[in-house]
Amino acid sequence: MHIIDPHIHCVSRTTDDYLYMSRAGVVAVSEPAFWAGFDRSSAGSFYDYFRHLLDVEPKRAARYGIEHFSWLCINAKEAENVELSREVIKLIPPLLDHPRVLGIGEIGLNKNTRNEITIFEEQVDLAARFDQMILIHTPHLLDKHKGTSIICDILKNDSRIKPERVLIDHCEEHTIRLAREHGFWAGLTIYPVTKVTPQRGVDILETFGTDMICVNSASDWGESGPHMLTDTLIEFRRRGHSEDEATRVFHDNPARFFGQCPKWTIKPRLKP
Ligand SMILES: [Zn+2]
Repeated sequence: MHIIDPHIHCVSRTTDDYLYMSRAGVVAVSEPAFWAGFDRSSAGSFYDYFRHLLDVEPKRAARYGIEHFSWLCINAKEAENVELSREVIKLIPPLLDHPRVLGIGEIGLNKNTRNEITIFEEQVDLAARFDQMILIHTPHLLDKHKGTSIICDILKNDSRIKPERVLIDHCEEHTIRLAREHGFWAGLTIYPVTKVTPQRGVDILETFGTDMICVNSASDWGESGPHMLTDTLIEFRRRGHSEDEATRVFHDNPARFFGQCPKWTIKPRLKP
């Protein structure tokens, strides 16, 4: 089966992870810009990070037959530093025409602070001005519901933003309705120890339906990994869902969402 990991931080992963993904049927990945595991000291660090995302990872991925695309932004965690954030935001427009850039992301909130909200609004404006798709990070901390709600309000109050071109990621049982009732796509991030497990992920797919949901591993610097996506696929199949149903969720949903950007090359395998 062909699958897509729509949210994975390949810069933090080993080449063995690419080999694993290739063996597991992953044909494409999308990598949002995020925290590096430490706070960066200058905009120059972000410039080099963007070069890593756009020029280095696609080559690493290609060796395993995997298409690699990216999203650019300053992440919510480092957005607390408004001055640095604005310097980073200035770096982005000239890179938006790069053939591997799908849009602005992952932007959002971490602790729902005033500074984070300011920079979030400025990056939503950036996306609107340059007609970019948006990938959203919602808080992993206690205030996930509040943060998701603030994010949805800001997006839906901006008439330039088309909800079907926005994916609200890291949804859980208590936030997925917020994302979908406004017409946004929802992302489910599957982790081994914290947050949504493969079993809970499949429960959510069965409870809320599989339309406009993208399941991902978000593999990063913490305890996580690309196998969380395949474990969720296995759990989905184990419960009796067909290979076609699995293809719709684990390949065609992300292919349809990303396909709204003309640079994306992988077509859905089944008719809607
Ligand atoms: Zn992420």
